[in-house]
Amino acid sequence: MICDSCGVEAPTKYVIFYQNIGALLMRFTKRIEGNLCKSCIHKYFWEFTLITLILGWWGVISFLTTLFYIPNNIIRYLFSLSLKPVPPGATVVELTEEAISRLSPYAETIVTRLNSGESLEYVAGDVALRARVTPGQVVLYLRALVTASQDSE
Ligand SMILES: [Zn+2]
Repeated sequence: MICDSCGVEAPTKYVIFYQNIGALLMRFTKRIEGNLCKSCIHKYFWEFTLITLILGWWGVISFLTTLFYIPNNIIRYLFSLSLKPVPPGATVVELTEEAISRLSPYAETIVTRLNSGESLEYVAGDVALRARVTPGQVVLYLRALVTASQDSE
C-alpha cells in the first residue's frame, strides 16, 4: 500500500533487484529490496539491469554474479508486470496531526483485529473509510504505534 522507496500510496509488490559493477579484482554491488510501486520497480529494474549488463562482467566472480543477477532481475520484473500502476494523483503518504486524531479512537480496534488474524490491507481499508483517512495513513499510524511501544520497553 505504501512504496518503500518513494513513499507514494499505491499498489506495491515485493521485489529485490541487484546491480553489479565488476572492476577485475573488485566488485561493487547494490541492491534494492522491499515493497515497491510500479513506477519504482520500473525505474530500478532498468537502471540496475542495464548497468549490470554493461559493467557487470569484468572479473571472474563478477561474471558469475552477473549471470545470477540478470535473470533474477528479469524474473522479478516479469512477475511484477501484473501490478496495477500508481493511480493518477497518488501522493506521498503523510501522517498529519489531523489523521492521528481521527485514528486514535480506532487504535485498539486496529490492534485487536490484526491480532485476530485479519490482513493489514483489509483492516487498513476498512478503518480508513470509518476514520476518513487513507489506508496508507492507517499503515503509517500503526507503524508509529509499534515504534512507540518498542521505545517504551
Ligand atoms: Zn515508489
